Amino acid sequence: MNKFHEEAILLDQKDPLAKFKKDFISDGQTVYLDGNSLGRLPEKSLDISEDVIRNQWGERLIRSWNEHWLNLSKTVAGKIAKIVGAREDEIWLGDSTSLNLFKLAYAALEFQSGKKEILTDDLNFPTDLYILQGLVQNHFTGHHINQICSKDGISISKEQIKKNLSINTAMLTLSLVTYKSAFMYDMGEVNKMAHEAGSLVLWDLSHAAGAVPVYLNKTKADLAVGCTYKYLNGGPGAPAFLYVRKDLQEKLKNPIWSWFGHAEPFLFEERFTPAQGISKFAIGTPAIISTAAMEPGITLVLEAGIENLRLKSLKQYNFLLRMINSELIPYGFVLASPGNANERGSHLSLQHEKGFQICQAMIEPKNGSRIIIPDFRPPNNIRLGIAPLYTSFEELYEAVVRIREIMDNEEFAHFENAIKNVP
Ligand SMILES: *Cc1c(COP(=O)(O)O)cnc(C)c1O
Repeated sequence: MNKFHEEAILLDQKDPLAKFKKDFISDGQTVYLDGNSLGRLPEKSLDISEDVIRNQWGERLIRSWNEHWLNLSKTVAGKIAKIVGAREDEIWLGDSTSLNLFKLAYAALEFQSGKKEILTDDLNFPTDLYILQGLVQNHFTGHHINQICSKDGISISKEQIKKNLSINTAMLTLSLVTYKSAFMYDMGEVNKMAHEAGSLVLWDLSHAAGAVPVYLNKTKADLAVGCTYKYLNGGPGAPAFLYVRKDLQEKLKNPIWSWFGHAEPFLFEERFTPAQGISKFAIGTPAIISTAAMEPGITLVLEAGIENLRLKSLKQYNFLLRMINSELIPYGFVLASPGNANERGSHLSLQHEKGFQICQAMIEPKNGSRIIIPDFRPPNNIRLGIAPLYTSFEELYEAVVRIREIMDNEEFAHFENAIKNVP
């Protein structure tokens, strides 16, 4: 065990990104391994929120729209564009990931109206599947969903994608990094296969943005959505983003017509005329407080550099995996993430039949041990998220030591095996 501890300390000393840890609020005790679900709070977001609420809203009132707010979403969208490899005028910020997925999926299906199949997989996030089911049930009643099944619950091969693409595929929609196993598709390869079949591709970047380099332009991606409260540290419910490749913007329509998507929102015309460019995908008034609070987290990702973050994440993953193999596999844990580093994002799934109870024991230790926060995904996945911006090697070490302690003391037995309210 000690050799791992020494190694962790050494790796932290040599880590060029270690300095970013102090930019986030922390109690200095809790080991937080859930940055893939809700990123930590950047110190600067506190000051900015105070300023926006007290001064901009409190003092300047409506005047703040012109002074600060009208361009805020665009500025933040420009920063996200750099992180996901897109042009600034291809990213729009606002609404939730679910709603953005609805808008773009609807637009894609309308554009491809001669084709009747929607292709996705069973590793996709539930809200994505629900949105597609709703579209077929309520709007595109002649369409059907073809859901590719993973053979091992971890990954899907490119042969499976290729085999299922056909001249009838209107749209292929996938999570670039899947939420449970962290399996990552090869975006360039999938785009190419889909384009050869005449299909559009709609990517969900929620578990990828801020964790792995994404090259939307370089891989000729059509459409994408993603959330900002995970690896981008935007805060709970922070506005999501959407991407539409420049040449598709004039061809696709926003299915929801509203004043912020109007060509001239402040002329208050009675007739709807859509805006040109990416802002045609807007709907209503942007969420200013959340957008302002989100900016520092995104700026930190940019400062650290996405390629550097990926390098550190891979190193941390490797360290964690070696420790798991040595310390936890003997207790019946099974790795449920891809073995190949090129095929995974920045979190890791460990399965154990007592997974839910082990998670509870990590979060609520009854013996004064350090609190470790992972998360749990049914039926038995413990997810350990590596957020390289603020996760240290030593924290990964502490987490494994603690899980082993829980197994040795059978602490999981103090908790019920009743899965409930897992955020
Ligand atoms: C987190 C996540 C979402 C979240 O959608 P919201 O509308 O923001 O709640 C959607 N898709 C994926 C793949 C996610 O990981």
